[in-house]
Amino acid sequence: MADYIYTMELRLTPDQLKGVGLVQDVARAAGMNLYLTGGAIRDIISGFSIRDLDFTVQGNPLKLVKDFEKAGAKITAVEEDIRTIFLALPGNARAEVSMARTERFEKTGKPPIVMPSTIHEDLRRRDFTVNAMALSLNEGSRGLLLDPFNGVADIEAKLIRILQNYSFLEDPSRLIRATRFAARFHWPLEERTQARYDSAKEGKYIEHILKSSVGHEIAALAHEDDPLNVVKMLEKDGWLEVLHERWTSAKVDVNGITALMKTRQQMVDLGYTPDAGPAVMYFLTSHFSDKDVADIQKLIPRKDLVEAWRDIEDHAKELAKRLMGKEAATPSRTWQLLSSARPEMVLFLAVTAKQQSVEQKIKNYLTKWRQVQQKIPLPEMTELLITPQLPIYPKLANDVFMLLLDGKLRSRTETLKFLKPFAPPPPPPPAPRRGRGAKAAAQAAGQPAAAQPAKGKKGKAAAAAAAPPPPPAPAKPEPKAAAKGKPAKSAPAPAKPVAKPAKTQMAKPAAKKPQNKRK
Ligand code: ATP
Repeated sequence: MADYIYTMELRLTPDQLKGVGLVQDVARAAGMNLYLTGGAIRDIISGFSIRDLDFTVQGNPLKLVKDFEKAGAKITAVEEDIRTIFLALPGNARAEVSMARTERFEKTGKPPIVMPSTIHEDLRRRDFTVNAMALSLNEGSRGLLLDPFNGVADIEAKLIRILQNYSFLEDPSRLIRATRFAARFHWPLEERTQARYDSAKEGKYIEHILKSSVGHEIAALAHEDDPLNVVKMLEKDGWLEVLHERWTSAKVDVNGITALMKTRQQMVDLGYTPDAGPAVMYFLTSHFSDKDVADIQKLIPRKDLVEAWRDIEDHAKELAKRLMGKEAATPSRTWQLLSSARPEMVLFLAVTAKQQSVEQKIKNYLTKWRQVQQKIPLPEMTELLITPQLPIYPKLANDVFMLLLDGKLRSRTETLKFLKPFAPPPPPPPAPRRGRGAKAAAQAAGQPAAAQPAKGKKGKAAAAAAAPPPPPAPAKPEPKAAAKGKPAKSAPAPAKPVAKPAKTQMAKPAAKKPQNKRK
């Protein structure tokens, strides 16, 4: 049987995993049964990126608001009617916690009658089989997958399938969702689902979509990996105009969004996790009037997304101004400024900067300056015993990087000269071995026992084991910590230079010894 907890732990980002722990602790303390549900499970199993965490509790999550806040989560929206809270978890993780519920649709176009239920009943009200699974996070059944509609099989078959014949009639927003998922995953609709979809389209069921669902579907665009493709597919099927009557792909700044997604990927590859959502919305609606944009924003339930979208230009201007001022007069100061800025602002400004100097500084920050890290003489630092074990190491590594960036250390010799005074004294030689083992070893080598290295012919391996480990990868850029003044955090991110020193460091002393002996 598949170990879904293991897969979950492998697939979630560290922030998401911590988020699962946080929600689990709060639910457990409140005595509520908790499940990871919907899209999160689909994405964990299918291997697609997991954009947000959907939790379902058996009970009312609105009662947990204070507990979540105490645990460090921010409540970004509450939907009382379906008892759902939206959370911004520490780091860059989003989650929603819903009450397990049944939904009874009595009249087309009217919200359903919502009743608390068990998780099993809840799964029956879902849109597609691949979204109708739940993973138990409860003691006793943790890791148990509830999959009443065989969603796993549809993930394997790459099919989008509704749970029952009236699905699109009951909730026409599922038509938009079907197109969105089909565009995102490149999965077709299952045959009968396609037939129901076509007749729902013909029957204009979409006219009965709820306003709240429109808001959800607009917000969902913000977190697509390829929003332009999704928008084009929605337009083709006639759903984009449902989201706003004047929305067409002509309202999109195509160059802007293309550059944004490219730079976002570049940043992700460097280890950042910028939330591109607000910037995506900005570019998807670039050619709308301010009034239309404001109308669209009013429909979105997640106010954190709306606020960030509204403020994005002003914040970018502020950052641009700082990048043109004294604060960014040198490469090292620019590095520090950009390291302490929010990654989403760096991302947005990278593609919208009007001043060439700002654009160039961000470009250097994301590319050229990272190569300067290769100049940090890690093997020699290790030989000097300047290793991560030293309390001053993070600061020292950062200082060297800053001096290299500014061209104040121009060669390896200069760098080593700078570093040498910080080298700790070498450790005392190991105590001489006593007893039979040492004697035998001494006899074998024709030398006094005390002069032998601890492990005789395994000397090289022993030396390797005793040698200090290579310096760790400088910390990932993490603006919050940098703001707190932790020196390591403004140090560069990549791990590349780090892998090499172990070998170099071993090879050098071994090569030097015989020469000394010959002398
Ligand atoms: P995404 O990857 O875009 O976040 P998602 O599947 O997580 O997609 P959400 O809108 O976050 O979608 O909803 C979470 C879950 O709630 C879905 O997976 C699905 O099970 C259920 N759901 C959402 N909207 C509907 C709907 N209109 N009808 C039925 N179930 C829905």
